[in-house]
Amino acid sequence: MPKLADDLSMTINTRINAMGPSKIRAFDEKASKIPGMIKLTIGEPDLNTPDHVKEAAIADINANDSHYAPQAGKPELLQAISSYLKRELDVDYNPETEICVTVGATGALNDVFMTILNPGDKILVPTPVWALYFQLIKMCGAIPVQVDTSKDGFILTPEHLRQVLREEGKGAKAIILTDPSNPTGCVYPAEILKELASVIKEFHLFSITDEIYGDLVYNGNVHHSLSQYIPERNILISGLSKAYAMTGWRLGYIAAPAQIMSSIRKTNAFLVTSVTDNVQAAAIEALNNGQEDPLEARKIYEKRLKFMKTGMEKLGFEMSTPQGAFYIFAKIPEAFGTDDEAFANELAAKAKVGVTPGRYFGKGGQGYVRLSYASSTKQLEEALKRIEKFVENI
Ligand code: PMP
Repeated sequence: MPKLADDLSMTINTRINAMGPSKIRAFDEKASKIPGMIKLTIGEPDLNTPDHVKEAAIADINANDSHYAPQAGKPELLQAISSYLKRELDVDYNPETEICVTVGATGALNDVFMTILNPGDKILVPTPVWALYFQLIKMCGAIPVQVDTSKDGFILTPEHLRQVLREEGKGAKAIILTDPSNPTGCVYPAEILKELASVIKEFHLFSITDEIYGDLVYNGNVHHSLSQYIPERNILISGLSKAYAMTGWRLGYIAAPAQIMSSIRKTNAFLVTSVTDNVQAAAIEALNNGQEDPLEARKIYEKRLKFMKTGMEKLGFEMSTPQGAFYIFAKIPEAFGTDDEAFANELAAKAKVGVTPGRYFGKGGQGYVRLSYASSTKQLEEALKRIEKFVENI
């Protein structure tokens, strides 16, 4: 095996060098090594990609559609995304100039951050949050300003936003909002989004909305988007990973005004050239003929949410009201104080249930753990039994 030359070992990009690997992944890998572990750690649907979607990709491969796709996406897919956004949110995006297909929502985030952030720029990140944002922002040399929302039930209030913009977030260029939220499962009500929109406008910010869980809202809740209120400054990110159980296909997209989209498209083309042909064919099928798929997934997750929430509350765990995505963010028992890492480690070692320490999701996460209910009902039942036994013996 080759060893890197000594004279090169100190010359790697300083921003990358300064960052550690993902704590969530590292914890998951450690937990995975314990035999018999039930993992509620990772945000990965246990459902399979629907057959008709898989078949569309296979047909596309067999038709030798294996050349460079148009850089911003196949016209049919851009149209399917535009129609989806109109259908679901009643927002208008021109497929020719206002949408870009990306390598997962992660690729979309990267494109957007790289397009708008200069080194030293501040961007507000309400926390707890999916922690990859921090790394991607820092890779641009920009500064994520964490806004702890734990005191307001994990929802950023307009008053809090205004206060932050006058203090530690003064001069910020943008804000990113995850709705529905990973890790808390919270969903922003329309009235709050509307008020946030007016503060965002008042302070001349870009808003970026990560709506990857937008199809997964439960109990009669409706997903809204800042694009409905401030389309002129919002950059909407979503994709097919979660609701269509297509994480491994890596298909996401961005919708934004043409004036910024032309730059985003440039960034995307520089980074990846274009997204895999047959994956785009599958996405066209999913969006045009798969309206039932997210509805089915929603029914399944809604049942599991009810089961896990009721079960955990019976055991004395408090939580914010999870209404979307597939996570529960639960306060750990008092005996552990706010040491969520110790709790998660002991739960893994003694009860063989893997949950993610809340502090890995940024400020306000201490004292909580995240449970993903994207696991089979059988596994969830067994996990609850184990947690019950563990809690009884604390
Ligand atoms: N945003 C959020 C909030 C997520 O939780 C995830 C996946 N865990 C992503 C984006 C990434 O989505 P994709 O797999 O499409 O890149």
